[in-house]
Amino acid sequence: MIAMSMRIGLGFDSHAFKAGVPLVIGGLHIDHPEGLAGHSDGDLLLHAITDALLGAVSAGDIGTFFPPTDPKWKGADSTVFLNTALEEIALVGFKIVNIDCVLIMHRPKIVPIAAEMRERVADLLHLDINNVSIKGKTPEGLSQDGTAVAHVVVLLESIKLPDEHKKLSAQADAPNEAEIDAALTTIASEPHDLSRLGRKLPTFDTDDLT
Ligand code: MG
Repeated sequence: MIAMSMRIGLGFDSHAFKAGVPLVIGGLHIDHPEGLAGHSDGDLLLHAITDALLGAVSAGDIGTFFPPTDPKWKGADSTVFLNTALEEIALVGFKIVNIDCVLIMHRPKIVPIAAEMRERVADLLHLDINNVSIKGKTPEGLSQDGTAVAHVVVLLESIKLPDEHKKLSAQADAPNEAEIDAALTTIASEPHDLSRLGRKLPTFDTDDLT
């Protein structure tokens, strides 16, 4: 268990544009003549978010969990990677406070689709949209028109122990067995209570690995 109450994580990813593949960024399918080349669906934003989350709890990176050498992840829906990272932070007792992202690409323009993308990412992370920021930049002077880049920072905070914990201490002299049982059950399940993140169970069903 990590003792600190707040953690910060940084994620980065880049993918080259490629004709004839679908473009998916932040879980959002975007109508564009080119997509992003990659072993998975090439969703660089979800990859960078996954790395930021794993980094925040020192749990390695996306390659640790999903080696690109494994044919199982060919064309994978990147929400599978993201859900694993959400599970990792919840297992050590953390939840997301907010996330800030920068997407750098020549085309498509991010600003016109940023609101929809924020909504999608907020949904995937089970966050209020006000806690998700996505900014678009063009790669001025970088000669990177054929490349998409994502930078992400995420802040995490400890999931607080329930009030029952304090109540239990206060009642130590005159314990009510049923109440203590109930409180202990809550406390024992707390660090593993993934519903705190409102997360859905990761979908490892191969049907999703398109
Ligand atoms: Mg990637």
